[in-house]
Amino acid sequence: MKQYLAERSALFNAGSEFSCPDSCERLGCRHPDLHIPVSLVDLVALSLASGRSVVDLFRNDCKMGFDPLTDEDPWVGRLSIELRKPCHFLNGKICDHYPGRPIACALFPESFFILESPETLLGKEIFRGFPCVVSPFAIPPKRGEVLHLLMEMWMKEAFLSDFFLFGISPFLIDLKSIAGEVLEGILIPEQGKAKIPLHRIEELISMKLSQGGYKQDWEDKIARLERPGGLDALAEMKRQTDPIARDRNRELLTMAHQFDGRRLLPVRHGIPSPTREIGALAGVTRATQQPNPVTGFVQGGIEALAGVTRATPVTRGR
Ligand code: SF4
Repeated sequence: MKQYLAERSALFNAGSEFSCPDSCERLGCRHPDLHIPVSLVDLVALSLASGRSVVDLFRNDCKMGFDPLTDEDPWVGRLSIELRKPCHFLNGKICDHYPGRPIACALFPESFFILESPETLLGKEIFRGFPCVVSPFAIPPKRGEVLHLLMEMWMKEAFLSDFFLFGISPFLIDLKSIAGEVLEGILIPEQGKAKIPLHRIEELISMKLSQGGYKQDWEDKIARLERPGGLDALAEMKRQTDPIARDRNRELLTMAHQFDGRRLLPVRHGIPSPTREIGALAGVTRATQQPNPVTGFVQGGIEALAGVTRATPVTRGR
């Protein structure tokens, strides 16, 4: 695993001609609406770079993020580990753990430029504060190859991480069973639409996951990584899951979990559109495939603009 991480880290800047301009305020590292997914492999890398335990990083520097899978049914979303924002590792304009930063951080902004046109990005308000998006640049072909390789690694790591923690990838949650709690206290205007900030939804999910003992279970699993042989076991699981990360059963995307009291029970939900499915399969639902600054919730005449982008951060200080 350590050798893999060293090789991965060497790719982060390989062939890159980009560096963050001084004028950048590191919005990607700060802005709460830009979600940064992290896999267990990322947490191991951060642990080695920071000298802190993986479980400590999970508990204190991460949250369980919820990202709607489709605009058509935004009550169903993917649960994954994400960095808390502003990121705790940002020191002024410098990332304190730059060589061991998450793979999502290394991909931004260059991966966006090979997946999205600058015009599309600038159509989203949040990106207008990024100097690199306002003044885009061409990605050299060699760097493009490296970025594709990193995205492939990211997809596999996300699958491994989900599989290790949840036993399934992606791990989808359908919030309809707690819609009343989600909407509690929200004023629904006359046209029947309301705005629900995503952090409010995530806080509710987090509370329920704690009450149900799920967060403790996940912490216990993560703590095992630091026991003798823990990283070797993760590396072995990675060897086994890498070949199936791309070919997973599409049927899994029709399976979600709903809260029933404190328990999460499996349910079936509608099949996502193929475009979103690709993003979900890649484990990067709203990062590389669909940078989406505003998620529209439309459910039963209630619309909530959750204001979320699973984007990746910017910090190149060293
Ligand atoms: S690059 Fe930014 S968001 Fe990523 S770990 Fe470093 S400070 Fe945090």
